[in-house]
Amino acid sequence: MTTRLEALDPIAGSMVIDQLRRMAERLKPMSLVHINSTRIGGGVAELLNGIIPLWNELGIDARWEVIQGDQAFFEVTKAMHNALQGFRANLGKPLLDHYIEINRRNAEELDFEADFVVVNDPQPAYLIEFMRKRGKKWIWRCHIDASRPDRKVWRFLREAVKQYDASIFSMPGFARNLPHPQYLLYPSIDPLSDKNRELSAEEVTAVMDRLGIERDKPIILQVSRFDSFKDPLGVIEAFRMVHAHTPCRLVLVGGEATDDPEGPRIYAEVQEAAHGLADINLLLLPPESHYEINALQRAADIIVQKSVREGFGLTVTEAMWKGKPVIGGAAGGIVLQLRNFRTGFLVYSPEGCALRIRYLLRHPDVGKRMGKFAREFVRNHFLVTRNLRDYLSMMILFRSAGDRGRPDRTVVL
Ligand code: UDP
Repeated sequence: MTTRLEALDPIAGSMVIDQLRRMAERLKPMSLVHINSTRIGGGVAELLNGIIPLWNELGIDARWEVIQGDQAFFEVTKAMHNALQGFRANLGKPLLDHYIEINRRNAEELDFEADFVVVNDPQPAYLIEFMRKRGKKWIWRCHIDASRPDRKVWRFLREAVKQYDASIFSMPGFARNLPHPQYLLYPSIDPLSDKNRELSAEEVTAVMDRLGIERDKPIILQVSRFDSFKDPLGVIEAFRMVHAHTPCRLVLVGGEATDDPEGPRIYAEVQEAAHGLADINLLLLPPESHYEINALQRAADIIVQKSVREGFGLTVTEAMWKGKPVIGGAAGGIVLQLRNFRTGFLVYSPEGCALRIRYLLRHPDVGKRMGKFAREFVRNHFLVTRNLRDYLSMMILFRSAGDRGRPDRTVVL
């Protein structure tokens, strides 16, 4: 049977795979645990699904642990998430105590023994208060745009984050004032996953038929959790402007992440905004609909990710990998992925979005050219192999720091 690394060889290149194997050799024996707060839904779960099996194929003993929380806990962590991205949050002491208490309970129940513990995002950030001695190196990975956080919330989180040996941010602008090395690592996609693997035209057609989406007009697609930062209402507004003059269809696809309690409210707002408009499909898909999303992205003519705040925005890379031009909000990591005028367009408003959609509808040949370039850009920068290499480099740096404990400089990998 072909291993995943062997299957990645023709996609990422054999030199890349050889390098990963050589780097892993330098670290063995080594164990690693990634921690987050949901196994399904959202970019982090997507990332971990792809990377865990590869660690193990490289001979690194890697596990993925998920913390458990109740409704109140996820309300608090969603408010924290929003506050890190600049929204005001009103989190009183009882709520923060509850958040800490849930972290304490998880710390008691889960086994986090490993050489490296990588804690993703704010939900499990306080585990370190209770776990410090059990793991050897603790790294906090922040997937959120934390460039302008609500000060009170960041002060609270910083109390935990500063205890880590290092932190990882997705962009230089997100890095914070912290007393430890900060690494800059871009997220990535797994080209072998159901979300990204090649599909035949028949497979794509079968999914579109099953989902009841007509292909009578060019399709504009946005795939996102129903979250105000993803600006689904702005997408509908842009579509409304375009649709008045040019035939097209808008497909808005969302799902629920178990750690995002805001979804149903935003979905209701989207339903209201779309009410009475022709040629809009709103789809609420179960969280494991990776294959369906893959097909939808392949069926689309233009992919939109009109976020107004964004950690990274994996959907942009997913769309680019499928050879599609992307119109993205000029926010967070979207700016890193999308080459303006080369692989798509960066936009700042529904009007700008409408203008670019119309342009691409009128010039499908330009969209195709952009898509080709986009795929190669992803091959070079945003595949899981590159993410693994960055992690390996970081860990080698830690190892070589030896008794001194940790590398003493901020490193851009
Ligand atoms: N996604 C999904 N179903 C949905 C909405 C999103 O599988 O209904 C996936 C999407 O394809 C991407 C991830 O969830 O892989 C979202 O990651 P992104 O970084 O774009 O946003 P996040 O949700 O992490 O803010």
